Amino acid sequence: MTAQDDPKPAPRLEVRSLIRRFEGRAVVDDVSLSIEAGQVTCLLGPSGCGKSTTLRMIAGVEMQDSGEIYVDGKLICDTVFRVPPERRQIGLMFQDFALFPHLSVADNVAFGLKGARDLKRARVEELLNKVHLKRFIDGYPHELSGGEQQRVALARALAPRPRIMLMDEPFSGLDNRLRDGIRDDTLSLLKEEDAAVLLVTHEPDEAMRMADEIALMRRGRIVQQGAPYNVYTRPADKAAVAFFSDVN
Ligand code: ADP
Ligand code: MG
Repeated sequence: MTAQDDPKPAPRLEVRSLIRRFEGRAVVDDVSLSIEAGQVTCLLGPSGCGKSTTLRMIAGVEMQDSGEIYVDGKLICDTVFRVPPERRQIGLMFQDFALFPHLSVADNVAFGLKGARDLKRARVEELLNKVHLKRFIDGYPHELSGGEQQRVALARALAPRPRIMLMDEPFSGLDNRLRDGIRDDTLSLLKEEDAAVLLVTHEPDEAMRMADEIALMRRGRIVQQGAPYNVYTRPADKAAVAFFSDVN
């Protein structure tokens, strides 16, 4: 069989027609997404449009009313079958997803790791090196700045080599001055680690800077999807134009 005959492998993450209603209102209304390993997709839209609810369903901490979620072509969740969150091989990073204050930086990063002590230590050192925080390896979270803590949180999330990385406004608590640097560093680390990344943000800037693909969301629906340049230069409608020109 030649490479040409090979069937195309399934995407790392595929979400089909997810719907979630609260009090009769569909806050996520038929959302479908497909993300390859190594790809960063930004779910971009104004506050309240349903981004976090979408992400929480993929994480498995919120149940959909209908729709399916697949990882590498395997069903992990529909309305009757459900792989529990801790078995989904998903890394999480939120704005306020705090480090464990009583654990050292090294133990925070090692938290989700299994196996031999020296292998775990090697992985922790590798990741702390990549986020430029090796010098804090035996320090504690309170000794770090907000930006440094988020870098440790990133290292912790990536340590077990998740197949999918879900990030919900991970930089929005940070100072403007710090944000560009941490976005760039985060992006280069994500690219090395080969997870499918879904990054939720309400900031067009962030999506333009980090995304391979933008999924523009409004009132529970994805209204446009494509490469950042295309979405930015050819917004689907007036509301998309207004959203991009708003200073957030
Ligand atoms: P975003 O992350 O885009 O700001 P969310 O997904 O958090 O949006 O919320 C989308 C909508 O769903 C909002 O109107 C919010 O108030 C509503 N919502 C979210 N969670 C719940 C809940 N548990 N019960 C009722 N309404 C909810
Ligand atoms: Mg949100």
